[in-house]
Amino acid sequence: MSGPLPDADPERLDEFGEIARLFRPLTRGAAGAFELKDDAAVIPQRPGFDLVVTKDAIVEGVHFPQGEAPELVARKLARVNLSDLAAKGAEPFAAFLAVAWPAAFTARDRELFAMGLAADLEAYGVDLLGGDTVKTPGPFTCSLTAMGWVPAGRMVRRAGARPGDRLLVSGTIGDAGLGLAAVKGEIDDPDGRLTYRYRLPEPRLDLRETLRRHATAAADVSDGLVADARHVAEASGVGLLIDLDRLPLSGAAATWLEKQPDVAAALLRLGTGGDDYEVVCTMASGVRKPPGFTVIGEVREGEGVEVRAAGRPIDPGAGGWRHA
Ligand code: ADP
Ligand code: MG
Repeated sequence: MSGPLPDADPERLDEFGEIARLFRPLTRGAAGAFELKDDAAVIPQRPGFDLVVTKDAIVEGVHFPQGEAPELVARKLARVNLSDLAAKGAEPFAAFLAVAWPAAFTARDRELFAMGLAADLEAYGVDLLGGDTVKTPGPFTCSLTAMGWVPAGRMVRRAGARPGDRLLVSGTIGDAGLGLAAVKGEIDDPDGRLTYRYRLPEPRLDLRETLRRHATAAADVSDGLVADARHVAEASGVGLLIDLDRLPLSGAAATWLEKQPDVAAALLRLGTGGDDYEVVCTMASGVRKPPGFTVIGEVREGEGVEVRAAGRPIDPGAGGWRHA
């Protein structure tokens, strides 16, 4: 027979070569990755610990703007997944990547994506252990499976809030939602802070010890504070009071709020915008409020979420950003 064997197809060889070149450095020498030369990876057991596993996929035009810089896409992908681990009190250590390159992506775009991912996996101490690479006629799509360790039985669940607990949130809320509006040209963002917060969220891995020690329940704020707090309430079988007048705001969000004619509606917008990647949690009322958290409400018997803003109850509607 003449002609190349399927395995010798130069385009296939190039593909494998590119995967090795782009992604092998991201294994950071982890033994279980076998230099990305095997069919699968191995994660050795860690006695006394549970493996916490999460997966998020992001799609161009849905979760990030069309034409977003590939390195920022990669970093957002890493961060939204690490945010889930942070909220669960887990210490990240490994990830698996799937990418679907669109035809329009150049070799340079692919390289920039890998560089962005490399920077964040390095910064957060995560080894890439494997993945898959495909082409798509559709928009750029990528997905990460992130893994972390917690002491056995200690993952912080959404279920666990008890009546009488206080409801708290970390950091500041609403910037990312305003950042998305700024990206769309709907609002001003003179110093770019809001946009930055939307494009490059910071997973709150610094909070994981505090959460493991004190939180009765927790979730990361990805859909919007009110929606994610509702997830906690539903999982825990309790009701919630959320007081948006206590919402922790950045200087930029506070400046925006001052200019809004309807304060209650504006607070609701901040409390329901997505992509903050802070942590909403509950803690027993006797626990001293840890630094970096703000008390925004309380856990009640029963069910349902009562939201207050500008001193009165308001209807939160769906209560969170929903992707179409
Ligand atoms: P298979 O066809 O056996 O599933 P692949 O040819 O897809 O394997 O992948 C070969 C190796 O390269 C595997 O170790 C796989 O985990 C790794 N790999 C492929 N794509 C990626 C990627 N995007 N990121 C990290 N590792 C990858
Ligand atoms: Mg194989």
